[in-house]
Amino acid sequence: MTATNQRRFCVAALGAVAATVMTIIPLRAQEKIQIVASFSILGDFARNVGGDRVNVTTLVGANSDVHVYTPAPADAKKIADAKLVIINGLGLEGWLPRLVQSSGGKATVVTATTNITPLKLGSRADPHAWQSVANAKTYVANISRALSDAAPADAEFFRSNAEAYRAKLDALDDEIRVWIASIPSERRKVISTHNAFGYFASTYGLEFVAPLGVSTESEPSARDIASIITQIKTQKIPAVFLENISDPRLMSRIAAETGANIGGTLYSDSLTDEKGDAPTYIDMVRHNIRAMRSALAGATLRRR
Ligand SMILES: [Zn+2]
Repeated sequence: MTATNQRRFCVAALGAVAATVMTIIPLRAQEKIQIVASFSILGDFARNVGGDRVNVTTLVGANSDVHVYTPAPADAKKIADAKLVIINGLGLEGWLPRLVQSSGGKATVVTATTNITPLKLGSRADPHAWQSVANAKTYVANISRALSDAAPADAEFFRSNAEAYRAKLDALDDEIRVWIASIPSERRKVISTHNAFGYFASTYGLEFVAPLGVSTESEPSARDIASIITQIKTQKIPAVFLENISDPRLMSRIAAETGANIGGTLYSDSLTDEKGDAPTYIDMVRHNIRAMRSALAGATLRRR
Protein backbone atom coordinates (compact mmCIF):
# COMPACT_ATOMS: atom_id res chain seq x y z
CA MET A 1 0.00 0.00 0.00
CA THR A 2 1.48 3.37 -0.96
CA ALA A 3 1.64 6.21 1.50
CA THR A 4 -1.06 8.11 -0.37
CA ASN A 5 -3.38 5.10 -0.42
CA GLN A 6 -2.68 4.47 3.20
CA ARG A 7 -3.58 8.03 4.08
CA ARG A 8 -6.86 7.82 2.10
CA PHE A 9 -7.66 4.57 3.84
CA CYS A 10 -7.03 6.10 7.23
CA VAL A 11 -9.04 9.23 6.64
CA ALA A 12 -11.92 7.32 5.12
CA ALA A 13 -12.11 4.46 7.54
CA LEU A 14 -10.43 4.09 10.87
CA GLY A 15 -10.01 6.90 13.36
CA ALA A 16 -7.53 4.88 15.36
CA VAL A 17 -5.26 4.38 12.38
CA ALA A 18 -5.60 8.04 11.50
CA ALA A 19 -4.42 8.90 15.00
CA THR A 20 -1.37 6.69 14.44
CA VAL A 21 -0.60 8.53 11.19
CA MET A 22 -0.91 11.83 13.05
CA THR A 23 1.82 10.79 15.49
CA ILE A 24 4.22 10.42 12.56
CA ILE A 25 4.24 14.20 12.05
CA PRO A 26 6.07 15.14 15.27
CA LEU A 27 8.47 12.22 14.69
CA ARG A 28 9.32 13.72 11.32
CA ALA A 29 10.06 17.07 13.02
CA GLN A 30 12.53 15.32 15.31
CA GLU A 31 14.44 14.03 12.33
CA LYS A 32 15.85 17.49 11.61
CA ILE A 33 19.61 17.36 11.34
CA GLN A 34 21.18 19.06 14.33
CA ILE A 35 23.87 21.44 13.09
CA VAL A 36 26.26 23.58 15.07
CA ALA A 37 27.92 26.43 13.16
CA SER A 38 30.95 28.09 14.73
CA PHE A 39 29.82 31.64 13.90
CA SER A 40 26.88 33.59 12.53
CA ILE A 41 27.85 33.74 8.84
CA LEU A 42 28.21 29.95 8.61
CA GLY A 43 24.91 29.58 10.45
CA ASP A 44 23.22 31.70 7.77
CA PHE A 45 24.70 29.57 4.95
CA ALA A 46 23.59 26.36 6.70
CA ARG A 47 20.02 27.66 7.14
CA ASN A 48 19.82 28.66 3.48
CA VAL A 49 20.90 25.19 2.32
CA GLY A 50 19.18 23.13 5.01
CA GLY A 51 15.84 24.95 5.13
CA ASP A 52 13.31 23.26 7.40
CA ARG A 53 15.22 19.97 7.42
CA VAL A 54 17.88 21.32 9.75
CA ASN A 55 18.11 22.90 13.15
CA VAL A 56 21.05 25.30 13.23
CA THR A 57 22.70 26.54 16.41
CA THR A 58 25.45 29.14 16.25
CA LEU A 59 28.18 29.19 18.90
CA VAL A 60 29.54 32.72 18.39
CA GLY A 61 26.43 34.84 18.08
CA ALA A 62 25.66 38.17 16.44
CA ASN A 63 28.06 41.04 17.12
CA SER A 64 30.62 38.76 18.82
CA ASP A 65 34.25 38.06 17.95
CA VAL A 66 34.92 34.57 16.61
CA HIS A 67 38.72 35.02 16.85
CA VAL A 68 38.85 35.24 20.62
CA TYR A 69 35.77 33.32 21.69
CA THR A 70 35.73 31.56 25.04
CA PRO A 71 33.37 28.57 24.84
CA ALA A 72 30.70 28.25 27.51
CA PRO A 73 29.90 24.88 29.14
CA ALA A 74 26.60 24.84 27.22
CA ASP A 75 28.56 24.82 23.94
CA ALA A 76 29.99 21.36 24.65
CA LYS A 77 26.43 20.09 25.12
CA LYS A 78 25.36 21.65 21.80
CA ILE A 79 28.23 19.89 20.04
CA ALA A 80 27.53 16.60 21.81
CA ASP A 81 23.99 16.67 20.39
CA ALA A 82 25.02 17.72 16.87
CA LYS A 83 25.34 15.60 13.77
CA LEU A 84 27.42 18.20 11.93
CA VAL A 85 29.72 20.93 13.22
CA ILE A 86 30.43 23.48 10.50
CA ILE A 87 33.62 25.46 10.88
CA ASN A 88 35.45 28.00 8.72
CA GLY A 89 38.91 26.53 9.23
CA LEU A 90 42.05 28.42 8.06
CA GLY A 91 42.89 28.92 11.73
CA LEU A 92 39.82 31.01 12.56
CA GLU A 93 38.43 28.86 15.37
CA GLY A 94 41.51 27.98 17.38
CA TRP A 95 39.31 27.35 20.41
CA LEU A 96 37.13 24.76 18.67
CA PRO A 97 39.09 21.47 18.36
CA ARG A 98 39.40 21.12 22.13
CA LEU A 99 35.70 21.85 22.53
CA VAL A 100 34.76 19.15 19.98
CA GLN A 101 37.06 16.66 21.69
CA SER A 102 35.77 17.40 25.19
CA SER A 103 32.13 17.22 24.07
CA GLY A 104 32.42 13.44 23.60
CA GLY A 105 29.98 13.61 20.70
CA LYS A 106 30.12 11.93 17.31
CA ALA A 107 29.58 15.01 15.16
CA THR A 108 31.23 15.20 11.77
CA VAL A 109 33.31 18.38 11.50
CA VAL A 110 32.77 20.09 8.15
CA THR A 111 35.35 22.65 7.01
CA ALA A 112 33.46 25.14 4.87
CA THR A 113 36.61 26.57 3.21
CA THR A 114 37.64 23.24 1.64
CA ASN A 115 38.84 23.85 -1.97
CA ILE A 116 39.44 27.57 -1.34
CA THR A 117 43.04 28.70 -1.90
CA PRO A 118 43.88 30.83 1.13
CA LEU A 119 45.47 34.26 0.98
CA LYS A 120 48.10 35.24 3.53
CA LEU A 121 47.54 37.57 6.46
CA GLY A 122 51.05 38.18 7.74
CA SER A 123 52.69 34.76 7.88
CA ARG A 124 49.45 32.83 8.36
CA ALA A 125 46.45 31.92 6.24
CA ASP A 126 43.88 34.70 6.10
CA PRO A 127 40.69 33.12 7.48
CA HIS A 128 38.26 35.77 6.13
CA ALA A 129 37.59 33.95 2.85
CA TRP A 130 33.81 34.61 3.04
CA GLN A 131 34.40 38.29 2.18
CA SER A 132 34.67 37.22 -1.48
CA VAL A 133 31.19 36.29 -2.68
CA ALA A 134 32.83 33.88 -5.16
CA ASN A 135 34.25 32.03 -2.14
CA ALA A 136 30.89 32.10 -0.37
CA LYS A 137 29.59 29.92 -3.22
CA THR A 138 32.28 27.36 -2.37
CA TYR A 139 31.23 27.46 1.30
CA VAL A 140 27.66 26.74 0.21
CA ALA A 141 28.76 23.84 -2.04
CA ASN A 142 30.73 22.28 0.83
CA ILE A 143 27.82 22.66 3.26
CA SER A 144 25.37 21.23 0.72
CA ARG A 145 27.60 18.19 0.18
CA ALA A 146 27.97 17.60 3.92
CA LEU A 147 24.20 17.81 4.47
CA SER A 148 23.55 15.41 1.61
CA ASP A 149 26.05 12.93 3.08
CA ALA A 150 24.36 13.25 6.47
CA ALA A 151 20.84 12.77 5.07
CA PRO A 152 21.02 11.18 1.58
CA ALA A 153 17.21 11.01 1.34
CA ASP A 154 17.08 14.82 1.37
CA ALA A 155 20.02 15.34 -1.01
CA GLU A 156 17.85 16.70 -3.81
CA PHE A 157 16.22 19.20 -1.45
CA PHE A 158 19.62 20.48 -0.27
CA ARG A 159 20.98 20.60 -3.81
CA SER A 160 18.07 22.68 -5.04
CA ASN A 161 18.23 25.07 -2.04
CA ALA A 162 21.96 25.50 -2.58
CA GLU A 163 21.39 26.22 -6.26
CA ALA A 164 18.74 28.86 -5.50
CA TYR A 165 20.97 30.50 -2.91
CA ARG A 166 24.01 30.43 -5.21
CA ALA A 167 21.94 32.25 -7.85
CA LYS A 168 21.39 35.04 -5.30
CA LEU A 169 25.12 35.08 -4.56
CA ASP A 170 25.85 35.31 -8.29
CA ALA A 171 23.59 38.36 -8.52
CA LEU A 172 25.38 39.90 -5.53
CA ASP A 173 28.78 39.19 -7.07
CA ASP A 174 27.66 40.87 -10.33
CA GLU A 175 26.39 43.86 -8.35
CA ILE A 176 29.80 44.35 -6.73
CA ARG A 177 31.67 44.02 -10.05
CA VAL A 178 29.37 46.53 -11.81
CA TRP A 179 29.80 48.98 -8.94
CA ILE A 180 33.62 48.65 -8.84
CA ALA A 181 33.78 49.08 -12.63
CA SER A 182 31.96 52.41 -12.21
CA ILE A 183 34.74 53.82 -9.98
CA PRO A 184 37.77 55.34 -11.76
CA SER A 185 40.65 52.92 -11.10
CA GLU A 186 42.81 55.47 -9.24
CA ARG A 187 40.00 56.01 -6.74
CA ARG A 188 39.48 52.34 -5.89
CA LYS A 189 40.97 52.52 -2.41
CA VAL A 190 39.92 53.12 1.17
CA ILE A 191 41.97 53.51 4.32
CA SER A 192 40.87 51.08 6.99
CA THR A 193 42.00 49.43 10.20
CA HIS A 194 40.02 46.32 9.23
CA ASN A 195 42.24 43.42 8.24
CA ALA A 196 39.30 41.28 7.17
CA PHE A 197 38.86 42.49 3.58
CA GLY A 198 41.84 40.86 1.86
CA TYR A 199 39.64 38.47 -0.15
CA PHE A 200 37.22 41.25 -1.07
CA ALA A 201 40.17 43.38 -2.20
CA SER A 202 41.77 40.64 -4.26
CA THR A 203 38.51 39.46 -5.88
CA TYR A 204 37.05 42.85 -6.73
CA GLY A 205 40.08 45.14 -7.03
CA LEU A 206 39.38 47.60 -4.23
CA GLU A 207 42.46 48.43 -2.20
CA PHE A 208 42.29 48.50 1.61
CA VAL A 209 45.19 50.62 2.83
CA ALA A 210 46.23 50.21 6.47
CA PRO A 211 47.04 53.43 8.35
CA LEU A 212 50.83 53.51 8.68
CA GLY A 213 52.28 53.04 12.13
CA VAL A 214 48.91 53.17 13.88
CA SER A 215 47.76 50.49 16.27
CA THR A 216 44.44 48.98 15.27
CA GLU A 217 43.69 48.21 18.90
CA SER A 218 43.81 51.57 20.62
CA GLU A 219 42.57 55.10 20.08
CA PRO A 220 45.14 56.92 17.92
CA SER A 221 47.14 59.81 19.39
CA ALA A 222 47.22 63.33 17.96
CA ARG A 223 50.48 62.42 16.22
CA ASP A 224 48.83 59.31 14.73
CA ILE A 225 46.04 61.49 13.36
CA ALA A 226 48.57 63.84 11.78
CA SER A 227 50.33 60.91 10.10
CA ILE A 228 47.01 59.45 8.89
CA ILE A 229 46.16 62.85 7.37
CA THR A 230 49.50 62.97 5.57
CA GLN A 231 49.05 59.42 4.33
CA ILE A 232 45.54 60.08 2.99
CA LYS A 233 46.78 63.15 1.11
CA THR A 234 49.95 61.51 -0.21
CA GLN A 235 48.22 58.34 -1.37
CA LYS A 236 45.09 60.23 -2.49
CA ILE A 237 42.75 57.93 -0.56
CA PRO A 238 39.14 59.03 -1.09
CA ALA A 239 37.42 57.20 1.78
CA VAL A 240 38.15 56.49 5.40
CA PHE A 241 36.92 53.61 7.57
CA LEU A 242 38.63 54.00 10.91
CA GLU A 243 36.28 52.47 13.42
CA ASN A 244 38.76 52.50 16.27
CA ILE A 245 38.57 56.30 16.32
CA SER A 246 35.61 56.91 18.56
CA ASP A 247 36.12 60.67 18.95
CA PRO A 248 33.98 62.36 16.27
CA ARG A 249 36.12 65.52 16.45
CA LEU A 250 39.17 63.57 15.28
CA MET A 251 37.19 62.13 12.38
CA SER A 252 35.92 65.60 11.43
CA ARG A 253 39.50 66.88 11.50
CA ILE A 254 40.61 64.09 9.14
CA ALA A 255 37.71 64.88 6.80
CA ALA A 256 38.27 68.65 6.94
CA GLU A 257 42.02 68.46 6.32
CA THR A 258 42.02 65.80 3.61
CA GLY A 259 38.67 66.08 1.84
CA ALA A 260 38.30 62.30 2.22
CA ASN A 261 34.87 61.00 3.11
CA ILE A 262 34.26 59.30 6.41
CA GLY A 263 32.54 55.95 5.87
CA GLY A 264 30.17 54.18 8.23
CA THR A 265 30.53 50.75 9.78
CA LEU A 266 31.83 47.84 7.73
CA TYR A 267 30.81 44.40 8.96
CA SER A 268 33.42 41.71 8.57
CA ASP A 269 33.29 38.76 10.95
CA SER A 270 29.81 38.76 12.37
CA LEU A 271 26.24 39.35 11.35
CA THR A 272 24.01 41.59 13.43
CA ASP A 273 20.80 40.51 15.12
CA GLU A 274 17.50 40.74 13.24
CA LYS A 275 17.09 44.45 13.94
CA GLY A 276 20.61 45.38 12.82
CA ASP A 277 22.03 46.34 9.41
CA ALA A 278 23.32 42.90 8.57
CA PRO A 279 21.12 40.04 9.80
CA THR A 280 22.14 37.82 6.85
CA TYR A 281 25.31 37.37 4.79
CA ILE A 282 23.71 38.98 1.73
CA ASP A 283 22.51 41.93 3.86
CA MET A 284 26.02 42.26 5.28
CA VAL A 285 27.70 42.44 1.85
CA ARG A 286 25.03 44.86 0.56
CA HIS A 287 25.48 47.07 3.63
CA ASN A 288 29.26 47.15 3.12
CA ILE A 289 28.92 47.97 -0.58
CA ARG A 290 26.53 50.82 0.23
CA ALA A 291 28.87 52.19 2.92
CA MET A 292 31.88 52.06 0.58
CA ARG A 293 29.92 53.40 -2.37
CA SER A 294 28.67 56.47 -0.54
CA ALA A 295 32.09 57.15 1.01
CA LEU A 296 33.86 56.84 -2.35
CA ALA A 297 31.24 58.78 -4.27
CA GLY A 298 31.32 62.14 -2.53
CA ALA A 299 34.98 62.62 -1.70
CA THR A 300 36.69 65.71 -3.10
CA LEU A 301 40.33 65.19 -2.31
CA ARG A 302 42.46 68.19 -1.40
CA ARG A 303 45.85 68.61 -3.03
CA ARG A 304 48.80 68.07 -0.81
ZN1 LIG B 1 38.51 38.73 11.61
